[in-house]
Amino acid sequence: MIFIPFLDQTTNQLEAIRECATIQYRGYQSLTYPQPELIGIKLPVNLIAYNFCSNQRDVYLYAIGKKMPESFDRYRGRMIHSLYQEIWNSILKKIASTSISDLNLDKALRKNRTNILKKVRSKHKSIYRILEEGLGEENLSSLQSSLEKEMEKIYSYEIRLAAALVDFELSRALNQSVGEAFFQRIFALSINPNFHAPKLGFSSPITPDFVYKNNVVGDIKIGPWQDYYYHTITAYALAIEYHTRMPVNCGIVLHVNLDDSRHVPIHENVTFERIDDSMRKKFLMIRDQKLLIMLSKKDPGIPKDPDNCEECGYYKICWEQTQ
Ligand code: SF4
Repeated sequence: MIFIPFLDQTTNQLEAIRECATIQYRGYQSLTYPQPELIGIKLPVNLIAYNFCSNQRDVYLYAIGKKMPESFDRYRGRMIHSLYQEIWNSILKKIASTSISDLNLDKALRKNRTNILKKVRSKHKSIYRILEEGLGEENLSSLQSSLEKEMEKIYSYEIRLAAALVDFELSRALNQSVGEAFFQRIFALSINPNFHAPKLGFSSPITPDFVYKNNVVGDIKIGPWQDYYYHTITAYALAIEYHTRMPVNCGIVLHVNLDDSRHVPIHENVTFERIDDSMRKKFLMIRDQKLLIMLSKKDPGIPKDPDNCEECGYYKICWEQTQ
């Protein structure tokens, strides 16, 4: 989140704004609605956007009520998502409630560290217990201790960056009222806002990880980079357009990679994307294919080669329970 303000000055964003007038596939236009026979069928945005399964069997499994079993990777993803949310909410709260002359974000966030990490852990306590049964206390505790180190790394990086950015803005504020206007402009960020877009075939609510200035949508992704990550910001843009009737032209995938050799998270693939018609059409085509599976509940079967399935949370269901 912290680097978003600087995007105002990037060439990409300026170009994106110039070109956005040509976008036709807006969520508030009926040409983005599903084919007539699919109207009324809905799927969670993440299931449509997550295009991991070449046979789209994950949609079939969802349609027949099979839940993806819990795994440490999924738990880790949830914990890291929650951590970002808690950090950003805490930054926004602090900025909104403190007068500029008293604002020392670095000090405040360092003081709040234990509380934030505790809150994140307690949010996912029930999943931790489920994993404990499957993985055993010792294995899980060793995985948890690596995760704690990753979370410390993210926390420390985000607060340093946020504090530096706020201090930079403070250094430019000539008086308090000017400073406050700066902050409102720069931190115009909503964390996990809710939207509804039933006619697009999306289950409610639709909750992007963050929305900046009501027109840039952001999604956090953890783990190896996948090109289909762009489907998620496309889906969110369409949903926000449907809900607000206002255009959303751009998005950011905040890709978080963590490597033991670095003391900061790696954001190598973070780019600022214009969500153009080509991205929208590609996503809408996949949405219709998936809604069709949801409607027919016909098993598309498993692929010939299990190689691509090994990383999938449904592996056991597809390859062990169907043999
Ligand atoms: S295990 Fe393979 S076939 Fe099953 S849902 Fe995952 S990717 Fe698809």
